[in-house]
Amino acid sequence: MTKLIFLGAPGAGKGTQAQILAETLGIPHISTGEILRGAIADETPLGLKAKSYVDNGDLVPDDLILDLIKQRLGEEDAQKGWILDGFPRNVSQADFLTNLLQQLNQNCDGVINFDVPDQVLIDRLLGRGRKDDNQETISNRLVVYRQKTAPLIEYYQQHNLLKNVNGDRELSQISQELETIVKS
Ligand code: ADP
Repeated sequence: MTKLIFLGAPGAGKGTQAQILAETLGIPHISTGEILRGAIADETPLGLKAKSYVDNGDLVPDDLILDLIKQRLGEEDAQKGWILDGFPRNVSQADFLTNLLQQLNQNCDGVINFDVPDQVLIDRLLGRGRKDDNQETISNRLVVYRQKTAPLIEYYQQHNLLKNVNGDRELSQISQELETIVKS
């Protein structure tokens, strides 16, 4: 498996694992959160539009994200594989991706869902100290996750792509399980 989507709540550890696995497989790790934070730091037009949403823990409007993903998946290094981290984050983004992959003649090989209890998520986020990791923004991000992103678990289950992974374990145990999954 070389074309993977990582799903999970904020703090589920999908970014960390995506980075490790992408490195192991030699494929790009595409994190929309990282792209947005970079754009905000550089004060690009995208960053200026996205800033207030990211600061509040709301999803940025789809039109800011969809073109960006389309472009990124069309790039040379993305032809042999990718890990999408933080995208899709709602059903309309998932539908867009399904159509885009068809257009690009690509297939998603699997969707990994990182399962982590709420209290563990909150503790991890509070310990992380990113600008959007304050109490108020965290609780909003969890609400947004439940409302908008969690329905994708069912969505990808119906597409027969979903694989659940227990994310409440040591980093290395999770990495090992992921390697086993992608090599099977
Ligand atoms: P986390 O998963 O911990 O919330 P991310 O780095 O994935 O962290 O996302 C940080 C923020 O970036 C989100 O709260 C949201 O505002 C924005 N964001 C990231 N990806 C998307 C997306 N696909 N659609 C809309 N907003 C997004």
